[in-house]
Amino acid sequence: MNLHLNGKVVLVTGGAKGIGAAIVRAAAAEGAIPVIVDRDAEAARKRHDELPAGEIVVAELSAAESCYAAVQKTIERFGRLDALVNNAGVNDKVGLEHGSPEQYVESLGRNLLHYYNMAHYALPHLKKSRGAIVNISSKTALTGQGGTSGYASAKGAILALTREWAAELLNYGIRVNAIVPAEVMTPLYRQWLDTFPNPDEKLTAILAKIPLEQRMTTPDEIAAMVVFLLSAQAGHITGQHLFVDGGYVHLDRALT
Ligand code: NAP
Repeated sequence: MNLHLNGKVVLVTGGAKGIGAAIVRAAAAEGAIPVIVDRDAEAARKRHDELPAGEIVVAELSAAESCYAAVQKTIERFGRLDALVNNAGVNDKVGLEHGSPEQYVESLGRNLLHYYNMAHYALPHLKKSRGAIVNISSKTALTGQGGTSGYASAKGAILALTREWAAELLNYGIRVNAIVPAEVMTPLYRQWLDTFPNPDEKLTAILAKIPLEQRMTTPDEIAAMVVFLLSAQAGHITGQHLFVDGGYVHLDRALT
C-alpha cells in the first residue's frame, strides 16, 4: 500500500526515543520528512543521523514559547507542515494522596498543555496543507492506574480534545485521531518498571494480563498505526480513538 507520505513534513514531539522514535523511523521509511522535537538532545541527534532527511528541535515542551518556536523552525526550514504527532509525555505519579495542587498543575504542563499549544501553533500551517493530527493517549485515561492523577487526567483530556478538534477542524479537511497504547516497552516504561522492588516479577505479571500473545505491544506497531492515520489512505477517519493494545482494555478479563 502506498501511503503517499513522500515529502510530507511530519512533526513528532518526543521523537528521540521510544514510541516517538519508532514513529519518526516509520514516517521516514514512507518518504516523509520527520521533525524531531525533544528535550533529549543527544538521543535526538542520534535518531536524526539515521534519517535521510529531517530536522531536530531541542526543546522542553512544557513552555508554550518552545511549542511556538518548534513550529516556526519547521516552517523556516521546510516551508510547510503536513502532520503533527503529539506524543511526548511522562507517567509522573502525581497522585491524589501523594501529590499536591502545585504538582498536579505541573503534571498537566508535562502531559497536556503542550498538546494544545502544539496544535494551536501548527494550525495555520495544517490548514494550508489540509494536514492531520495524531494524539498519543494512554489506557490510564480509561482504566485508571492509581497514584497518577495528573497523567491519567491529561490522557483523558487528550481523548476529549481529539473529538473536539476533529469537530472544530472538519471544515478545513484536517483529520484528528488518537491512539491509546497500553503496555509498550520503551525507555519510559523500563524506568517505571524499575521503580518496583522486583521488576522481572512485575513484568511477568503484566505480560500474563495481555490477551493477545501475552506480550507487550512494540513501538513499531504503534508507529504503523500512526503513519496509516496520517496518510491519505485514512482519508475518511477522524475523531477516533484507536486501541493498539493486544486487546488489553476491551477484552473479557476472564480470558487472561
Ligand atoms: P519515552 O521512552 O520516555 O520517550 C519519550 C521522549 O519524549 C523522551 O525522549 C522524553 O525525554 C521526551 N519528552 C517527554 N516529555 C517531554 C517534554 N515535556 N518536552 C520535551 N521532550 C519530552 O516515552 P514512551 O514510552 O515512548 O511514551 C511516548 C508516549 O506514549 C507518551 O505520551 C506516553 O504517555 C504514551 N504511552 C506510553 C505507554 C508505554 O507503555 N510506553 C503506554 C501508554 C501511553 P526524557 O527521556 O528526557 O523524558
